[in-house]
Amino acid sequence: MKQRANRTDRPMVIAGAGQGGLQAAESLRLEGWEGEIILFGEERLAPYYRPPLSKEALLEPLDLSSIVLRGPEALAGKGIDFRPNTRVTGVDREKREVILASGARQPYEGLVIATGGVNRRLPVPNGTHPDIVSIRGVDDAHKFAVSLAEAETVVVVGAGFVGMEIAACCRLNDKEVTVVERESRVLARAVSPLISDTYARLHRERGVRLALDSSVAEVNVENEKVKGVKLSDGRVIAADLIVAGIGLVPADELGRDAGLPCDHGIIVDRCSRTIDPDIVAIGDCTATAHEPGMPLHRLESVQNALEQAKSGAAALMGREKPFLLAPWFWSDQYEIKLQMVGTSTDHDRVVTRGDIDGYKFSAFYFKGDTFLGAASLNRVADHMAARKILDRGMKLTPEQVADEKVNLGALVKAAEKAAAETA
Ligand code: FAD
Repeated sequence: MKQRANRTDRPMVIAGAGQGGLQAAESLRLEGWEGEIILFGEERLAPYYRPPLSKEALLEPLDLSSIVLRGPEALAGKGIDFRPNTRVTGVDREKREVILASGARQPYEGLVIATGGVNRRLPVPNGTHPDIVSIRGVDDAHKFAVSLAEAETVVVVGAGFVGMEIAACCRLNDKEVTVVERESRVLARAVSPLISDTYARLHRERGVRLALDSSVAEVNVENEKVKGVKLSDGRVIAADLIVAGIGLVPADELGRDAGLPCDHGIIVDRCSRTIDPDIVAIGDCTATAHEPGMPLHRLESVQNALEQAKSGAAALMGREKPFLLAPWFWSDQYEIKLQMVGTSTDHDRVVTRGDIDGYKFSAFYFKGDTFLGAASLNRVADHMAARKILDRGMKLTPEQVADEKVNLGALVKAAEKAAAETA
């Protein structure tokens, strides 16, 4: 690994001032970098937290101060030179310089690419109509709030987390909502059938119409205004607001144009390293493999951006700090908090605790005797215990989960105490 002095005459440069870019800047300081740090962001705002933009921020006027992670003064206080409204358009790896939209060049000592992603547009006739809302940044959330206030009926295309959270917000605003989803169940990419069924029931109880196994063939437009969607089977759903929640395209063009291997994201290892020792990439713009040789995947989550940023900052300073923690994620819909850790993929047994009908339960997934992951609805203690069990490589059996008298938190504490005594 390339060792680096704590300061050189070139700055560390970060392209993208989002969740990961901010963490990379702060982690570079923690890793001992004393030189200049420049954080380029194409948005006008200081780094902010996106999760509320499809949740509570849609229910009341958006308060920017509650989502900005660090304001310009706080950044300056840490010696981070934040440059908003500045798009990085290219990387000259030979000269170790980034190229800005203005044409100016900025030399770098090390470069972090943290450019996130852009929302996928609907690939159908009229699918790029400017009235169609798709939420990624604060301006989208503002646009959605204005459009929702004027709308009576909404079609949400895509039953992923963002789509289902937006559908919940629409119902909480008393709008008629139909969610159109190509798959046969909601949240299909991310959760097990049990959790999908639970969320389908929850949304139907709250008045959401679900059009599953259905795809949008066309967006209907009259007098230049969106009027609804036509489905592939010919059905027409009228709506005066259309929301696209069909996922993200990684913003990996800086890497691709600079000749870094990309495959739906800049390919990085578990230390966020690219093939260039002076460039790391982090967050939604990357693709990585759990183990060398395993299929590439992208975790579009706050935890992933933060942990890859910490690994990437360490890597630029010549230290190996792989991101090895079990992945976790959450989603808020109505009054239900879903928290997931690990995976449910390939499970052959699911054991539940709690009250499924009352939306207060956890599902623990096993393959044979191996505990893979858990999904918890309004069961924070279960989630925290499951995370510790996975992160510490502790054993958990289906029998322990099935027995509600077994306190999982106490199990974790006992195992930690035993480990401390033998250490
Ligand atoms: P971002 O935070 O997206 O930051 C990338 C930044 O780079 C952007 O500001 C972009 O404008 C800028 N940029 C792009 N290209 C350039 C360029 N060439 N030059 C300069 N700047 C550039 N995750 C969860 O874990 N839980 C949730 O509940 C959750 N909810 C979400 C809800 C919504 C509506 C959205 C949009 C995301 C949600 N996420 C959630 C995902 C999470 O926010 C992202 O995974 C995380 O922000 C990724 O961090 P990032 O740094 O990779 O990208």
